[in-house]
Amino acid sequence: MAVDFEFRKQVMDYHIGSDLIKYCFQCSRCSDNCPVTKVTTDFYTTTGYNPRSNILNALLGYKDAIFDADDLTIWGCTVCDTCDEVCPQNIELTEIFTFLKNQSIANGKGPDFIFSQARAIFDSAKAIPTPKTGKDPIARRREQLGIPPVMEPDIAEFQTLLKNLGVDKKLK
Ligand code: SF4
Ligand code: SF4
Repeated sequence: MAVDFEFRKQVMDYHIGSDLIKYCFQCSRCSDNCPVTKVTTDFYTTTGYNPRSNILNALLGYKDAIFDADDLTIWGCTVCDTCDEVCPQNIELTEIFTFLKNQSIANGKGPDFIFSQARAIFDSAKAIPTPKTGKDPIARRREQLGIPPVMEPDIAEFQTLLKNLGVDKKLK
């Protein structure tokens, strides 16, 4: 495994609390408490999502171990923030994981499901697009509960905002 010093510097720059005193000492508390690790890790093979390994590889500059691994390595994190809360070194793991995800997209290496989700949001201006046929289940539930309908977003305005951020160029 080769150390990429530029990548290492980027991680350290991105990590707001990057003073030496906050270095990860690999206690594994993040992985022990991570709900994704709990459901993806095979006890016997120890494969699965592992925030402790991600932090180690990121802080040491082992870029290949992160970006050349399977999608779960980066995208397994649901940003629930549990690891941030339990880390005894107050390392902001989710900040670093966000940086890794952004790098992955910038390098065109994001998984297809992320691009298709982003495309759906771009096209509909909604996190959960309205079904093209039949009654929208969210609208129906709101109606049943007597809650007023959600205001329809201005898709053109939303897309203009995203285009100004260059999001459209990143969509596959
Ligand atoms: S909880 Fe913090 S110090 Fe412990 S392994 Fe995870 S990142 Fe490192
Ligand atoms: S923020 Fe991500 S890595 Fe941290 S506990 Fe939640 S799912 Fe696991």
